Amino acid sequence: MRVLSKSKLLAFRQCPKRLWLEVHRPDLREDSSATLASFMVGHQVGDIARHVYDPKGKGTLIDFQVGGFDAAFTRTQALLQTNQPIFEAGFRAEGALAFADVMLPIKQAGNRAWRMVEVKSSTSVKDYHRDDAAVQAFLAHSCGVPLAGIALAHIDSSWVYPGGGDYSGLLVENDLTDEAFPREAEVRGWIEEAHEIVAKKKEPRVLTGEQCSAPYECGFFAYCQSNEPLVEQPLHWLPGAQNKALKAHIEAHGLSELRDVPDGLLNEKQRRVKKVTLTGKVHFDQVSAARDLAQHKLPAYFMDFETIQFAVPIWKGTRPYQQIPFQFSVHRLARTGKLVQQAFLDLSGGDPSRGFAEALVGACGERGPIFVYNAGFEMARIRDLAQRFPRLAKALLALNERVVDLLRVAREHYYHPSQQGSWSIKAVLPALCPDLNYGDLDGVQDGGTAMEAFMEAISPQTSAARKAKIEQQLLDYCALDTYAMVRLWAAFSRTTLKV
Ligand code: SF4
Repeated sequence: MRVLSKSKLLAFRQCPKRLWLEVHRPDLREDSSATLASFMVGHQVGDIARHVYDPKGKGTLIDFQVGGFDAAFTRTQALLQTNQPIFEAGFRAEGALAFADVMLPIKQAGNRAWRMVEVKSSTSVKDYHRDDAAVQAFLAHSCGVPLAGIALAHIDSSWVYPGGGDYSGLLVENDLTDEAFPREAEVRGWIEEAHEIVAKKKEPRVLTGEQCSAPYECGFFAYCQSNEPLVEQPLHWLPGAQNKALKAHIEAHGLSELRDVPDGLLNEKQRRVKKVTLTGKVHFDQVSAARDLAQHKLPAYFMDFETIQFAVPIWKGTRPYQQIPFQFSVHRLARTGKLVQQAFLDLSGGDPSRGFAEALVGACGERGPIFVYNAGFEMARIRDLAQRFPRLAKALLALNERVVDLLRVAREHYYHPSQQGSWSIKAVLPALCPDLNYGDLDGVQDGGTAMEAFMEAISPQTSAARKAKIEQQLLDYCALDTYAMVRLWAAFSRTTLKV
């Protein structure tokens, strides 16, 4: 009989077709770089958890890849007779198997019992974690383990790394014993149903939908979508939330094309997107855009940040998943029309925050609007820096007082059919400034690749030549971001630039 792993059971909980494909057509799976990165983060947090739960290093890590599954299960049974922590203890029963992140020995009524801890890299308990805990508890019980409790440990996003390799406060536990233990019949049902799905000769018929990205991004999405009728102008191009009546209408009539949605169920902006999409004619209220921008006098600054985040902080004084800016570009447009750029980039591998904050204050002058695209992100980073560096707080927070969001201007006054529901700068720019193209950049072309490039550059394994190349790529990318804003500002405000 085939034995299904916990991850297969959770795949089944997400979508029966996913389970079938995982078992019969794993070759079709294409994990995104975000999914692969999340696996790496999971391993990293798992390593830290072993130090946190076993600071003296007395426990044993079971690695099924060394001796195979059978050896791992046998070793687990032997270690359960000891009084030391076990990591990756394996349990197999009733057609399913799972490995527990942490098993901790405790005394219960004078006897040895065990407390299980599942470690997650998220910052809260999700519903699928509860399913995960129910499966783990069921399998441990089925193997005869005297399991006294089960908890889920996740990252405490408010914790501040004190430095020196001390990660003792990184994880916070939630006890799930009372809800996981009574779900044994439910879990047994999942295992039975999952086996029935796997036994089918053909893949189950399931259309793509919300389940494809929640709780996990499904790696079979490209395959599943390629077998479905092509949607020319999908409904997700509609901006903002769909109201209840619209959702109900879409569901009742099985709609997938924008043209089939009645105007009466759309708000003004959604109607505009539908109209532009169907007619192919751009919407540009240039007079209003220019009037909007005319209140912000030159000199003007155009600002953009690049940031990095770590689930497990590496710099003292920072929090898990905190977005830490390591680079900015600022273009300054003077009243004379002169355009000058300033940049900051720290690839030393040390915390770039203080240097960044000081350079930013210097680059933005004391007066004049600071244009940012999607300003909430940069403003939040500035607030973070102000909190960390009180001496600079006044000057930093003064920058936020001057911020003007160009995204708001674009959203209110401009929409081109090629935007396909997006107002990101990369969607708006090609229509208004076709001579500027992120695709022409070497290497770094978006925020995700900028983060990867930063990580590679600060790695001690990276050669000086490669680091220099990355440095130039990052500088070019961030400079294009702010120059693109200058050009959008000029297009919206009907200004001819001198450069
Ligand atoms: S892409 Fe969606 S429909 Fe296809 S297997 Fe994954 S979850 Fe199921």
